Amino acid sequence: MTIERTFSIVKPDAVKRNLIGAIYQRFENAGLNIVAAKMLHLDNAKAQGFYAEHEGKPFFDDLVAFMTSGPVMVQVLEGENAITRYRELMGKTNPEEAACGTIRSDFALSMRHNSVHGSDSPESAAREIAYFFAEDEICPRGE
Ligand code: ADP
Ligand code: MG
Repeated sequence: MTIERTFSIVKPDAVKRNLIGAIYQRFENAGLNIVAAKMLHLDNAKAQGFYAEHEGKPFFDDLVAFMTSGPVMVQVLEGENAITRYRELMGKTNPEEAACGTIRSDFALSMRHNSVHGSDSPESAAREIAYFFAEDEICPRGE
């Protein structure tokens, strides 16, 4: 088994509805250890840079407006196969297609206001973690 790190955001729709604790509980119940965390209010440049892969898509401007509309929690999750397991725990992008019991199925409001972000590959996890955290802000659990 590989211990991996993945990058996670609790998005503005979930922070506004006081769902930080409920969502963190899902991470911990799944054995995804929170090894770094902070609250931020993203500005346009930071949100655009984070979602650069989606630049030019029809939903890009509304996505950036949403992600800058209020505070977010950003965190690094660590655990066995954390990248894939966290994607499964989140559920599909569209909450109507997300499996029962997933975070998005239970909490998301719409395809855009879908409560959480998670890295989709080892390469994006490495980029996204470094985009928000210095190495000395990450606190591995040890044994
Ligand atoms: P995911 O977050 O599941 O990896 P994507 O990387 O494809 O999904 O998209 C990034 C984010 O952009 C989504 O989580 C969602 O908030 C928003 N988004 C994606 N597609 C759409 C869409 N068709 N309409 C509105 N918002 C969208
Ligand atoms: Mg994505």
